This record gives sequence, structure tokens and C-alpha cells, in this order.
Amino acid sequence: MFCNMLDYKSKWFGRWFVKVPAQYTSRDCNSCNFRTEEMPLTIREWQCPKCNSFHNRDGNASKNILKKWLDGQS
Ligand SMILES: [Zn+2]
Repeated sequence: MFCNMLDYKSKWFGRWFVKVPAQYTSRDCNSCNFRTEEMPLTIREWQCPKCNSFHNRDGNASKNILKKWLDGQS
């Protein structure tokens, strides 16, 4: 089960992981760029203390990865 999920995820994000450092992406607010404290991986959702946006950890990370990748293109 765990291996299947990992395989699925690496296919899903594989393109981005090549070019973009994934560090911090799940902790940076994609609305205001606030970097929250380190969270255990069991925390799947969090709210930004600065702008109060509510984030799904993976959704937020993928938006940040996309944003960083786009920034790198310009
Ligand atoms: Zn925020």
C-alpha cells in the first residue's frame, strides 16, 4: 500500500522534482509566502497564521512547486 502510494506520487510530481527543490514547499503559504513551523508528516492540513488561508499540505506543496518552477522560467 505504502509503496503504491509512493510510486503514484513520484509519477505525479516527478516532473517538478527534477528542477525544483521540494524543501519547505509544504510549509510555505502559497498565498502570502509565510513559512510556518516544521510540522510532523501526520499533519495534513494547516492554517496560515499570517493570512488565515487554509491549506491542504499536498495541495499547497504542489502549488508552491509550480510557482517556483514558473519563477525559474522567467
Ligand atoms: Zn498566508
